[in-house]
Amino acid sequence: MAVIEENTNEEKKSISFVEQLVEEDLAEGKNGGRIQTRFPPEPNGYLHIGHAKAICMDFGVAEKYNGVCNLRFDDTNPSKENNEYVENILHDISWLGFKWGNIYYASDYFQKLWDFAIWMIKKGRAYVDEQTPEQIAEQKGTPTEPGRPSPYRDRPIEENLELFNKMNTPEAVEGSMVLRAKLDMANPNMHFRDPIMYRIIQTPHHRTGTKWHCYPMYDFAHGQSDYFEGVTHSICTLEFVPHRPLYNEFIDFLKEYDGTASEGLNDNRPRQIEFNRLNLTYTVMSKRKLHTLVDEHLVNGWDDPRMPTLCGMRRRGYSPESIRMFINSIGYTKFDALNDMALLEASVREDLNKKATRVSAVLDPVKLVITNYPDGQTEEMVAINNPEDENSSTHTITFSKNLWIERADFMEDAPKKFFRMTPGKEVRLKNAYIIKCTGCTKDENGNIIEIQAEYDPESKSGMAGANRKVKGTLHWVSCDHCKKAEVREYDRLFNIENPSADDRDFRELLNPESLKVYNNCYVENYAAERKPGEYLQFQRIGYFMADLDTTSEHPVFNKTVGLKDTWAKQNKK
Ligand code: ATP
Ligand code: MG
Repeated sequence: MAVIEENTNEEKKSISFVEQLVEEDLAEGKNGGRIQTRFPPEPNGYLHIGHAKAICMDFGVAEKYNGVCNLRFDDTNPSKENNEYVENILHDISWLGFKWGNIYYASDYFQKLWDFAIWMIKKGRAYVDEQTPEQIAEQKGTPTEPGRPSPYRDRPIEENLELFNKMNTPEAVEGSMVLRAKLDMANPNMHFRDPIMYRIIQTPHHRTGTKWHCYPMYDFAHGQSDYFEGVTHSICTLEFVPHRPLYNEFIDFLKEYDGTASEGLNDNRPRQIEFNRLNLTYTVMSKRKLHTLVDEHLVNGWDDPRMPTLCGMRRRGYSPESIRMFINSIGYTKFDALNDMALLEASVREDLNKKATRVSAVLDPVKLVITNYPDGQTEEMVAINNPEDENSSTHTITFSKNLWIERADFMEDAPKKFFRMTPGKEVRLKNAYIIKCTGCTKDENGNIIEIQAEYDPESKSGMAGANRKVKGTLHWVSCDHCKKAEVREYDRLFNIENPSADDRDFRELLNPESLKVYNNCYVENYAAERKPGEYLQFQRIGYFMADLDTTSEHPVFNKTVGLKDTWAKQNKK
């Protein structure tokens, strides 16, 4: 897979190939002009940014063509699913900004599917196979070599009916029997080689409890559910291309069984269309791997800000608009690719620049004393919350004699181009005065413990005469008017670009430096009161958001993303 580097966040003017197909169907008058899509998550984990790509397509098409997009929980495997996942999926979709029509569950159709399966058996199109999964796999053949029939393939219909009923009892042993469609063991499409329709699972289901003991497989549930609901366009990802003929075949059987079972028009035939999955550099998207990261405490839960999950991104401070902007920028194609994480971050920066409230925070503090500023005096300086917004609100930040500034903003012997603080030179303190550095104090080891400067009382920001040009502007907080804060900084979760394509165990590829915690930061009081969900910019540093762990006594912030993409440069050698 090639990394797609070049891209912009310009809105795509052309329509996607999926939209083109939908428009062709509309032009042909298919489905009476009705457009109905669905987003079909399996409630066996949290949604990640890959799902967001599918969500934007499914809901986007419905919105654009005055249709409806429903949610359908594909809850056909109770051993992995639960209500916690259902609730979080609902929350994440709403957060992204989409509204569904109805909420359906594949489990609503268990009885209908069962009845249809019985019909298939009676028609001689399905049989119960008592071989082991290994034996079945071994007979499947290869794409160039036909499979071999199961010894149970031609057992009598009555026996099949009896065994299928047995499969649905509490005594049935998992793995002892499956129901298979009797299709074509020589078909070049492997999915036609007597696909499994039902398997035994004895874990109680999160909605139907212990009513059922055997459950339909994806291929025997998905298309049928689409048909029952009247879905017109069943949009999914490329790995389902080889399933499409089987999807259509089962719908043909279903129409023969009950042509009126669809909620849509009777000629309704859902059309499956596939697009490429979203894959991102330096992370993994497989639910199994994400489960492992959570279960083995390699991250701090599903909403760890390093995770590619929507809840992780929300906690980290990504906006839903930035995620949608990114998805729009990468587009939809018929080819799998690996998308650059840096592009996602560029979208996040672009959106947060418009949204974020500017505040002051000092992450690596050193003391600055304004020696000619009166002891005990304070001033409330006006800080514009967002200079990108001409109607921006403001807040105040207290100025005083003793301040914290960033250690990196001072150099005793500075090169010419150093426009921050160095003895003899002037800089502006943001929203306050121009100061001239007069010197510094060191401890016995030569570490700088204090910097001194004098301020020019005539240079206050906004005052006439404040326009004297100085090259550098520094952020600061007042020692007596700030809060100590914890700041969590995140790096790539994995050390290598495409961990999914690596032969090594993916755990070995984790970046041990992906989380850095700074405990000695100071934030202005206004910032300490910000809540999770409020987008912040720590001036000159990056975008941040209060973490769910924050309290006003112990403020905690997540770094969302830096102001510039310094990461790409560091790592490209
Ligand atoms: P699993 O790994 O358990 O099969 P999944 O990632 O396919 O899970 P589902 O809940 O079955 O998750 O996915 C719901 C929908 O989201 C499907 O239509 C699927 O095609 C789509 N989807 C999942 N991952 C991606 C991805 N990386 N990019 C685009 N769409 C995706
Ligand atoms: Mg899936």
